[in-house]
Amino acid sequence: MEQHWDVAVIGAGPAGLEAAVTLKIRNKSVVVFGSDRVSEKVGKAHEIRNYLGLPNIPGAELAARFLDHARIMGAEFRQEKITAVYAMPDSFVLQTGNNEMVEAGALILATGVSFGKPYPGEEQFLGRGVSYCATCDAPLYKGGKVCVIGASPKEEAEAAFLAEVAAEVTYIPLYRGEVCLPESVRIVRDVLVSIEGGFKAGRLVLKEQTLETDAVFILRDSISPAQLVPGLAVENGHIAVDRRMATNLPGCFACGDITGTPYQYIKAAGEGNVAALSAAAWLDEKKRK
Ligand SMILES: Cc1cc2nc3c(=O)[nH]c(=O)nc-3n(C[C@H](O)[C@H](O)[C@H](O)COP(=O)(O)OP(=O)(O)OC[C@H]3O[C@@H](n4cnc5c(N)ncnc54)[C@H](O)[C@@H]3O)c2cc1C
Repeated sequence: MEQHWDVAVIGAGPAGLEAAVTLKIRNKSVVVFGSDRVSEKVGKAHEIRNYLGLPNIPGAELAARFLDHARIMGAEFRQEKITAVYAMPDSFVLQTGNNEMVEAGALILATGVSFGKPYPGEEQFLGRGVSYCATCDAPLYKGGKVCVIGASPKEEAEAAFLAEVAAEVTYIPLYRGEVCLPESVRIVRDVLVSIEGGFKAGRLVLKEQTLETDAVFILRDSISPAQLVPGLAVENGHIAVDRRMATNLPGCFACGDITGTPYQYIKAAGEGNVAALSAAAWLDEKKRK
């Protein structure tokens, strides 16, 4: 394993950043993975009026303060998406979008709630032709035909990388505006209906056409928690937690919007604090045994 931390936090919003601050106070090594530098749900808010002690603060300023605070405390940041988590007997192994593996003794999920519903066929073919990570899985489709669903222009770099490996790449942007990709990539603007196939995914059904394909890469910021961490208990679309923010997986905690409504900054930060204290206590207890 390339690197090891006491705790890995996935998500750099108020929940994840508060968890990182509290973990540093409890002398734990911590790495925070974030698809965004700080959650866009903070940075893009016009003016925030209900964060205690900071009346009428612009979102961009609150985001900068959150990040500064976590950095001052010594938390490490990696602006990278986590594409998969494997619960091992004694640790968690996280796979990054750059196909790197990192290990942590405990895990805090603070990924927010922007994942939406999976497409029909997405869960069925996950790992059998459906992938969330071009860097990780592109070599499997060397010389093949692949389709890429891009949720935002950020994903174009991954599609361009696939174009270097696969023989045919079709890119389906889920956003308006210009797409900047190599000429060899075919751009199709259509609506995704479903992913179909036999044992493996073989067809991408769009509203106007059906594309034969060896793989479908679904590239979006966040992945639903049950897909990210196999075996995680989910209730009504949110991660099930107890009052310690503990999930059903030993050593795995969750906080913020991902655990349920109300979706509020201060609730997310408060839960981040509880999740961090619980993770620290869990690690200390494990050490004592
Ligand atoms: C426009 C707007 C205005 C708002 N105004 C208010 C307000 O005034 N007051 C208030 O209390 N609340 C407000 N909210 C709600 C508030 O934004 C949320 O409740 C809060 O941001 C939740 O924090 P969180 O840390 O749980 O998740 P988020 O802030 O959603 O952060 C989660 C982070 O995790 C990242 N992530 C997800 N998956 C992965 C992955 N696999 N790997 C790496 N990173 C990942 C995401 O990209 C994101 O950066 C507003 C929301 C919006 C959209």
